[in-house]
Amino acid sequence: MIQFIKITKSLKSEFPSPTQEDLDHDNICIICREEMTISNSCKLPCTHCFHRVCLRRWFKQKRKCPTCDLDLMDK
Ligand SMILES: [Zn+2]
Ligand SMILES: [Zn+2]
Repeated sequence: MIQFIKITKSLKSEFPSPTQEDLDHDNICIICREEMTISNSCKLPCTHCFHRVCLRRWFKQKRKCPTCDLDLMDK
């Protein structure tokens, strides 16, 4: 539980929200295949965007971008 809170916290500060342009380009989260909005999603350094909640769940298993496998471990 402590670890979960830690990951949640670091995620929020680490990854910025996408811009409208990013979402115009692609607004489907590939983890759940539903639409994203600026307020409920975030953008990884590789420019791929996902729901914050989906990413949080995903990162419990691996700290990699679900789309391109970019390693996010060393952040
Ligand atoms: Zn999602
Ligand atoms: Zn990526």
